[in-house]
Amino acid sequence: MRVGILALQGGVYEHAYMLKQVVDKRETSIDVVFVKRPSQLRGLDAIIIPGGESTTIGVVAEHTGLLGELREAIEDGLPVMGVCAGAILLAKSVRDRRVGETKQPLLGLMNIEVVRNYYGRQRESFEIDVEIPAVGKGPFRAVFIRAPAITKTWGEAEPLARLDEAIIMARQGNMLATTFHPELTSDTRIHEYFLYEVARK
Ligand code: GLN
Repeated sequence: MRVGILALQGGVYEHAYMLKQVVDKRETSIDVVFVKRPSQLRGLDAIIIPGGESTTIGVVAEHTGLLGELREAIEDGLPVMGVCAGAILLAKSVRDRRVGETKQPLLGLMNIEVVRNYYGRQRESFEIDVEIPAVGKGPFRAVFIRAPAITKTWGEAEPLARLDEAIIMARQGNMLATTFHPELTSDTRIHEYFLYEVARK
C-alpha cells in the first residue's frame, strides 16, 4: 500500500509514526509518501490530511496547484482521512465560531458543516475517552487541539461518533473526517479503520 500524507504544514510525522505502528501490528508494508507537489499524488492508494492550521494548508495547497488536483483525485475515489484541519478542508460548509464565514480555500467535498475553534478558549485543548462503535468496543482516547466540530451532516455523509452535541467523526464513502487527533495516541484503530475499511478495494 502506498499512503500519502499531505506535508505542507501541521502534524505530519505523527501520522507516519502511526502508520509504522500499523505496519508492525499487521505485519504488512506501507510506503509513506510526504506529499508536497501534485505529481506525488500519482499511484497513491490513500492519503491523510493532517491537523494544523487549515487556512495555511489550504492557501499553500492552492498556490502550488495541489488543492485542485487533490480534489479531483478524491472525486475519482482516492480514499482520504482528514484530521482536524484536514476535516475542515474536506467540508462543504465552514465557519468560525467567532468570526463567522472564513472564506478560506477548501476541498469542499464532504457533506458536513464544520465550525472552526468550536470549543473556544476555555477548552482549547483537552482529552477525553469516547466510544466509536465503527472501530470496535472500548474507549478511544480522543485528543482535541483547538478543535472544530462537525455540526451537521447530510446526504451520504454519516456521523460515526459524537461528544455531547458535536459530531467528532464522520464518513462519506471514501472520505473520513475526525475533529480530534488519533495520531497522538498509541491506539491504531482509527488508522486501521481508514486503511482497511474505508480504503479497502
Ligand atoms: N484550529 C485549527 C483550524 O481551524 C485546527 C486545529 C487542528 O488541526 N488541531 O484550522
